[in-house]
Amino acid sequence: MRGAQRCPACGEAAGKRVRITWWGLGVGPELMSLSRCQICRHQFNAKTGRSVKCTVLVCNMVGAAVFFVVIAASILLHR
Ligand SMILES: [Zn+2]
Repeated sequence: MRGAQRCPACGEAAGKRVRITWWGLGVGPELMSLSRCQICRHQFNAKTGRSVKCTVLVCNMVGAAVFFVVIAASILLHR
């Protein structure tokens, strides 16, 4: 299978590149060659073949922090 990546979780060569995610938008997946297994839905780095759970968590926290800063700033500016 051309371009397929082997899934570190189930061992199947069913990885497919992820172009965009809700946590990293178009940047996160591109930065770490994010792939998702089409069988078990495990997400992993296509270059290293490792899980991206920690990276997803970090992206979530950064995204949430930015979101709250923007909300706080807009509330403060509109008073
Ligand atoms: Zn899998």
